[in-house]
Amino acid sequence: MLKGKAAASQRIDAILEEALKTASTNMELAQKQARLARRIAMKHTIKLPYQRKQLFCHKCKRFIVPGINARIRLTRSPIRALRITCLECGYVYRRILEK
Ligand SMILES: [Zn+2]
Repeated sequence: MLKGKAAASQRIDAILEEALKTASTNMELAQKQARLARRIAMKHTIKLPYQRKQLFCHKCKRFIVPGINARIRLTRSPIRALRITCLECGYVYRRILEK
């Protein structure tokens, strides 16, 4: 059994995976799972990896899933970027795509 941070980040990962699956059928439950994952991360002062962090709205901190409560658009000019709109609070942010 892993202890401390390693165990906690594994748990966070597992919870977020589960939340992603739950989101399509039960968003309310998915939000609860995501909140739990965030709480564990904060408690153990674990920084979520980028892939996980983008599942949370920068503004309202809610769990956002593309195609469910987030809209993603690809912009092509002048730089390729993703425009992510949180449909919970309407916040829009851009993520520049790496080559
Ligand atoms: Zn939001």
